[in-house]
Amino acid sequence: MQRIAILGAAGRMGRMLVANTLRDSELKLTGAVEVAGSPFLGQDAGVVAGLAPCGVLITDSLAAAVRNADAIIDFTAPTVAVANAKVAAAAGCAAVIGTTGLKDADRAALAELAKSAKIVFAPNMSVGVNVLFHLCDKVTRLLGAEYDIEVVEMHHNQKKDAPSGTAERLGEILAKAANLDYKTDTRHGREGLVGTRTKKEIGMHAVRGGDVVGDHTVIFATQGERVELTHKASSRETFAKGALRASKFLAAAAPGKLYDMQDVLGLR
Ligand code: NAD
Repeated sequence: MQRIAILGAAGRMGRMLVANTLRDSELKLTGAVEVAGSPFLGQDAGVVAGLAPCGVLITDSLAAAVRNADAIIDFTAPTVAVANAKVAAAAGCAAVIGTTGLKDADRAALAELAKSAKIVFAPNMSVGVNVLFHLCDKVTRLLGAEYDIEVVEMHHNQKKDAPSGTAERLGEILAKAANLDYKTDTRHGREGLVGTRTKKEIGMHAVRGGDVVGDHTVIFATQGERVELTHKASSRETFAKGALRASKFLAAAAPGKLYDMQDVLGLR
């Protein structure tokens, strides 16, 4: 049975992960970690997740948690995710990283770490979104350069980063398939006299409000028609289920490359 430590255990995703780990007969929750100073330290992770006590108390000691775990699942903050993965790797622990907002240097550090550690990093762990990634690559190539591509994402009003990690990944996939450069050819929102739309850009728009879990629409528009691909997450459970699938994938995987959900789902 794979032993799991959840990092960010009292967060929105962390509680969902704790609950789903406790319900999964192939997994055993052995650790629940929160930031130093969290009001949840010392509380039972099961109770914090809205379930019966499970005997795992929330701690701020990552070092202790990785000693008793085969894999960590990190849904914390972009400032700490890489450091957490390093602690896990040093203890021979696999890492599933769902935290978004990582900088290029952080991703490079994870890729370096993954040469000798088992790591899945994915900004969106839902199966549906990963199928959307796959379809966006195909549709961009099928439709060709005549179609203007725009991405619109909407999330709850507590989300701190924009665009969402999923929208960024969509942008990267779309740009690659359209022979564009995500960094230089993405137009984030439009304001003022921006001029007419060029063919050498992908529009990116972040909408925030209410309790929306995560909507992403990719629009392919040309004279006379448009195609829209939309994914809507209605519960965070989809991300938690994907993360647990990723940890099970790592149990049988070898280190050597930074895996993502396309690897986990066999879509590559
Ligand atoms: P949240 O703010 O509700 O929870 C984050 C938790 O991490 C908090 O409880 C915080 O105290 C804790 N934390 C911060 N630093 C820590 C540390 N050093 N050690 C342990 N715990 C620490 O946020 P959330 O909505 O649960 O999202 C968390 C992250 O996951 C965000 O980056 C979000 O964008 C991302 N996310 C990813 C996916 C995906 O599928 N990959 C899905 C949803 C959210």
